[in-house]
Amino acid sequence: MSASQESTSQTIVAPQVLLGNHLKALKLPTFAREYEKVALESAQDRADYPRYLLRLCELERIDRERRNVERRIRLARFTQIKSLDTFDFAAQPSLNKPLVLELARCEWIEKRQNCIALGPSGTGKTHVALALGLAACQKGFSVAFTSAAALVHELMEARDERRLRALQKHLNTVKLLIVDELGYVPFTAVGSELLFEVFSQRYERGATLVTSNLPFDEWTSVFGSERLTGALLDRLTHHVHILEMNGDSYRLATARKAQRRNADEPSVSPRTKGEADADI
Ligand code: ADP
Ligand code: MG
Repeated sequence: MSASQESTSQTIVAPQVLLGNHLKALKLPTFAREYEKVALESAQDRADYPRYLLRLCELERIDRERRNVERRIRLARFTQIKSLDTFDFAAQPSLNKPLVLELARCEWIEKRQNCIALGPSGTGKTHVALALGLAACQKGFSVAFTSAAALVHELMEARDERRLRALQKHLNTVKLLIVDELGYVPFTAVGSELLFEVFSQRYERGATLVTSNLPFDEWTSVFGSERLTGALLDRLTHHVHILEMNGDSYRLATARKAQRRNADEPSVSPRTKGEADADI
């Protein structure tokens, strides 16, 4: 290769390498990946330079939004991904569907209000909580999902390791905190105090969603202290949307249906309440 040929090939390669570096530094990965393809398409369509750039900008923004939603979903630490699309409202007639759909629009999160889903096991409380959390991630809100027992455990561990402040700060800054399954496990006095602090610090500063199998008048059995439970309910229920889910267990109903199909019988003997409770 002659010197002149070599310098020509260098000038052809160099701008692309430089462009790649600049786009990386500017954090425009979709630009970097798509600009050649979109250039060819734009040439074919006789699109001018502004239109070419516009197409690239649009692609970058769409991709960036998708990446942001994915990041928020990852950070939320959902146990599963569930959406309202797969929730059968007809199976849970006690649930206020218009309210759930309204909550999925996330204005309550913007207004730093609370939501409490109450009902026995298997009625879809976690499903709805996950779905509202997912909707919040899609609408641009940061979310943290945890069970009450795991949160108390995490708070106690953080306290023992002298990093409670950092954890509290994280719990205070998320736009939506979801605390699932309050009521299955009673807390120690320290655990109750720590959880109370979380709710208390979030009061009117961030939205909180709690699910519980216990009606409010039984929450004292979880927190131990009547005074603490009263103060907590006072804060949590000040600006609150209550989702009553008092129907049958969906798990139980689907298990029964499957059993019926398998056995090809018209019906199976109903299970006792004790057995149903073991379904948690
Ligand atoms: P809970 O938290 O009230 O105990 P879950 O939300 O865990 O109940 O529901 C148990 C299972 O049944 C989950 O797999 C959930 O997706 C499903 N489920 C419950 N209710 C419904 C419903 N109405 N439509 C579709 N799936 C449901
Ligand atoms: Mg649940």
